[in-house]
Amino acid sequence: MKLLFITYHRTVAEPETDDVHTLTFNQFARHVKLIQQAGVTVAGTHVLERDQPDPGHQIVITFDDGNKSDLVNAELLVRHGMTAMFFISTANIGRDGYLDEDDIRKLDGMGMLIGSHSHQHKRLNKLPTAEARTQLKTSKQCLEAILGHSVQYIAFPGGGYSSSVVAMATELGFRHMMTTDWGVNTATHDSKKRHLYKRNNIMKNMPDSEFIRLITLKSRLRRGLTFFLKRLLRASLPENSYGVIRKLVMSSNTINKSSN
Ligand SMILES: [Zn+2]
Repeated sequence: MKLLFITYHRTVAEPETDDVHTLTFNQFARHVKLIQQAGVTVAGTHVLERDQPDPGHQIVITFDDGNKSDLVNAELLVRHGMTAMFFISTANIGRDGYLDEDDIRKLDGMGMLIGSHSHQHKRLNKLPTAEARTQLKTSKQCLEAILGHSVQYIAFPGGGYSSSVVAMATELGFRHMMTTDWGVNTATHDSKKRHLYKRNNIMKNMPDSEFIRLITLKSRLRRGLTFFLKRLLRASLPENSYGVIRKLVMSSNTINKSSN
C-alpha cells in the first residue's frame, strides 16, 4: 500500500497574507470535497498499526501545532466520515489561539489521533541531547496526563530530526514518527526507516489542480524536484534568509499563476 500524508496547520475564516501554511477554512473544506470526488480513501487513524495493509493508495490527513482551528476542521472531517492525526506542541496548550485540555480530549473522543509535536516547538536536531530529551518526554507525559492513555506518535517540529533524535524518541516510547520530508510512503521502504513517515505540507497558494495531482499521486517528479531545491537552499542559507526567499518565491508563483 502507498500512504500519502498531507499536513495542514492553522485555518482561518478570512484569508491572511503572512503565513504560507495558513489556509482558509473554505480552502480546507474544498480539499475534503476534492478528496471525495477523486475517490481516494482517507485512512483510519490506526492504519500504521496494521500488519496487513490494504491494497492501493490512501491519504492520511495530519495537523501540526495544536491550533484552536483544529476543532472546527475535525468536526468537518467527522461529517464526511473521516479522521485525522493532530500533533500538539504542549507548551502552547491553553494559550490564545491554541487548543486547551478539554479541546484535546474532545478531539480524542471524536476518534482523532493525538500525537506530540514536542513541548516548545523547537527543532530537536539543533538542541543539546538533554534538552531534546526533555522536549520529547515533557510533551509525551503532558498529553498522556490529559488523555489518560499512551501517546506513541510524534511529528518533529520544523521537520528537524537526526538519527540520534529518532533513537531518543524510540527509547522514550514513540513508535511512529512524522517528518516533513516530501514523498509517498510505501510498504517496502527501508526497514531501518520503517517508523519514519514522509509528509507533504499543504501551502495556501497550492492551486486545486495541483492538489488533485498530489492526492492522485500524479505530481511526484515535479514536487520531488521542488523539495530537493528547497533542501539545497535551506542548507546553504541562514534560517531567516531562507524564509524571506521562500516568501518571495511563493508570492511570485501566485502572481505567475493568476496571470496565466
Ligand atoms: Zn509545527
